[in-house]
Amino acid sequence: MTTPVSDDVAGKCIYCLLPKPGSREHLVPRSIGGNLVGRRVCKACNTGMSDIDQHLGDNAVVSMMRVANTPAGSFDVKLGGEQVLDDPSGRRVPVAIRNQYAPSLHPMMRFTPTPAGAEVGVHFSEAVDAKRLARFIDKHREAAFAELHSKRVDWLDAGEAAVVMHRAKDGYLAVADDAAEPRARALLVEKADELIAILEGSFPEAATIAQPRVQIAAELRLNDLYRAVAKVAFNLLAHRTADDFVLRSDFDDLRQYILGRDVRDVEGPDGAVVPDPRFVTWALDGQPFTFRDMEHTVVMTGHDGRLIAVVTIYRSFVFMVDMGPFRPPWSYPQVLVVRGDRQETRWLDLTECVELMREHGRPEDAAT
Ligand SMILES: [Zn+2]
Repeated sequence: MTTPVSDDVAGKCIYCLLPKPGSREHLVPRSIGGNLVGRRVCKACNTGMSDIDQHLGDNAVVSMMRVANTPAGSFDVKLGGEQVLDDPSGRRVPVAIRNQYAPSLHPMMRFTPTPAGAEVGVHFSEAVDAKRLARFIDKHREAAFAELHSKRVDWLDAGEAAVVMHRAKDGYLAVADDAAEPRARALLVEKADELIAILEGSFPEAATIAQPRVQIAAELRLNDLYRAVAKVAFNLLAHRTADDFVLRSDFDDLRQYILGRDVRDVEGPDGAVVPDPRFVTWALDGQPFTFRDMEHTVVMTGHDGRLIAVVTIYRSFVFMVDMGPFRPPWSYPQVLVVRGDRQETRWLDLTECVELMREHGRPEDAAT
């Protein structure tokens, strides 16, 4: 059973409770491949929460699974943060890590100071990238490179600078230190013709870097990650229940938390600040509802008078969301499965859920 679009119509936005028209909202964020769409979130709330959806896909650990799991032919995903790899000559170069961990070099022209001036190095994966870099330098030549913004980076050696394209049509001047920047700008202004000629010339096949050693840096904003997970559960709850169910005041605290209006950092052991513990717990040691062939699953059930959602992302990251009091119409677990092929989102009843667990459970489950 495929349910691509919900025909939910409700008078009020399920987050701000204002009587506003609904907008297209991905119930499971598109950043992790969700395709089920609902219309119970107003445009302002939808837009306001898009950064936590993105963070769910981008944050360090989930992002690694996302990049590993997204097929090469699917939509383009990229590991968050700045990634650097060591090339065969021992130099560090910035790269993008894309679908299924394919690293691609950012096209780059690197200037290394020498007693006589500078040595110019060119890094790229395909010839077409060199041409892009040539066009980029040509574009900035008109304004004498005044509009080429610069950034201090730690992957260059002392005195080095580089023109780097980190996006299809955009780039920056990377500099190792204060001395490098004016030298690089002077070189660009003075030698632009020659530099462009180098890039437009013919190159031997770019070398393949076998088993690159990639240094991964990404940030983990736990409160944002938890809010995004809670939102998935709440969106699905709204989708599966009568119009007014999620509008109950039972869910007001959760609403404020997901919206980011009431997020509390609390003091943990040894004075460390830990993320808001009221709604979401990361079940680091448990995989209670994992199906081998399914990317994400959400199971909702009652426990101790509370409505609990178990949200599993990429079969690996299990979160428990305490959503509010457990009340009718909930009488059995409800399961959402987003299939591995990203084309189908399925709701299962309890019988189907148990069957899938038998069929697709981990091998160690079958033994017990
Ligand atoms: Zn709203």
